[in-house]
Amino acid sequence: MSELPDCLYCRKDQRLHDLMLEIAPLGASMLYLFKEQSHRGRCVVAYRGHVNELFELADPELTAFMRDVARAAQAIKAAFKPNKINYGAYSDKLPHLHMHLVPKYEGGVNWGAPFEMMPANRKLPNEAECTALIAAIRAKL
Ligand SMILES: [Zn+2]
Repeated sequence: MSELPDCLYCRKDQRLHDLMLEIAPLGASMLYLFKEQSHRGRCVVAYRGHVNELFELADPELTAFMRDVARAAQAIKAAFKPNKINYGAYSDKLPHLHMHLVPKYEGGVNWGAPFEMMPANRKLPNEAECTALIAAIRAKL
């Protein structure tokens, strides 16, 4: 077995499971539900390979990844009807290409401002609620 980088997206270990739940594999990535749901429907699209920057991808992979991002955003929009979806790719401390898809609701949390990566007052739905959120997104993919 090849040695994977010490990366939660590559190893899919407890660090990953503490933060997010699998929704579905997409063309070039995996779509996850982010457990912290201050922004209802918040997800992460993680590229399948251990690369850091968008410019490290050849055009077909870049196109496939951005298509996955757009597809996931469209599903979130259809499932939860946010007013806007914010896109965040930071990765300062985790060099694996992934994008946060954060639905924003007019008058709601962080509306008109950047979303908080991990709000102080975390909103953590229970297992049944997470299952329902995942089903709602899967139905619109
Ligand atoms: Zn990785």
